[in-house]
Amino acid sequence: MIEFHQVSKQYTRDNAALSNITLSVAKGELIFLSGPSGAGKSTLLKMIAAMERPSSGTITVNGHDIGRIKPSGLPYLRRNLGLIFQQQCLLNDRSVLANVMLPLLVTGHPRIDAEKRARAALDKIGLLSKAADEPMALSGGEQQRVAIARAIVNRPQIILADEPTANLDRASAAKVMEALHAFHGVGVTCLIATHDEHILNEAKKIIYLEHGRLVAPGANAPLPGGA
Ligand code: ADP
Ligand code: ADP
Repeated sequence: MIEFHQVSKQYTRDNAALSNITLSVAKGELIFLSGPSGAGKSTLLKMIAAMERPSSGTITVNGHDIGRIKPSGLPYLRRNLGLIFQQQCLLNDRSVLANVMLPLLVTGHPRIDAEKRARAALDKIGLLSKAADEPMALSGGEQQRVAIARAIVNRPQIILADEPTANLDRASAAKVMEALHAFHGVGVTCLIATHDEHILNEAKKIIYLEHGRLVAPGANAPLPGGA
């Protein structure tokens, strides 16, 4: 479903954010992306969403060459992706429900249908009771779950999450992970960047990055801080 073939990314001439990455993610997999800060985790996720282009190598998502995607192809790619990135803030001038409806409204869904699906998405992450609240009235963990509801309301095939539990307490982080595991449970492919050791300890499949390179793919990847 996602293939990297000898992918490198240089933001500047003398600094490689990613070097010669080859990996593949099968449909329905739940994979954690680990490694110290600056290792290239965000860059790898952003390239799958065509938010950054590879400097060399090829990336395919569902058979499409993402490095060469035209602007007109972006909506088709992004429709299949649920993006949970930290810089994507909730809009504070409207309700939680309106925030979750937004991706459906911009893709032309009728309002009634959008509201029904947004409520269903909020119900799935246990926040239907907060639908009418403003995001600012919610805890950090609840806000992060609203961001997840907004990311999945379009029923994407792939979820990309960048440090989805950063700045959350253990209980909130557990709820966020529970929601992500539930989507994996219904067949959604999930790629989650994290250096949260509690999460990595439970993870079945970890891809470990260091200085932009893959380290020991698969077995016995070192945990951050453990080396
Ligand atoms: P991580 O997510 O693992 O912390 P990043 O992918 O954010 O790593 O960063 C990898 C490297 O690329 C770092 O050295 C970072 O400074 C650099 N980098 C990331 N984004 C940019 C950018 N927009 N411009 C220049 N350098 C960048
Ligand atoms: P409805 O058919 O009334 O929209 P569903 O239970 O089918 O209710 O879906 C409710 C919400 O759950 C959807 O709006 C979507 O956000 C999410 N969802 C359902 N199936 C998937 C899926 N396969 N992948 C991601 N999200 C999904």
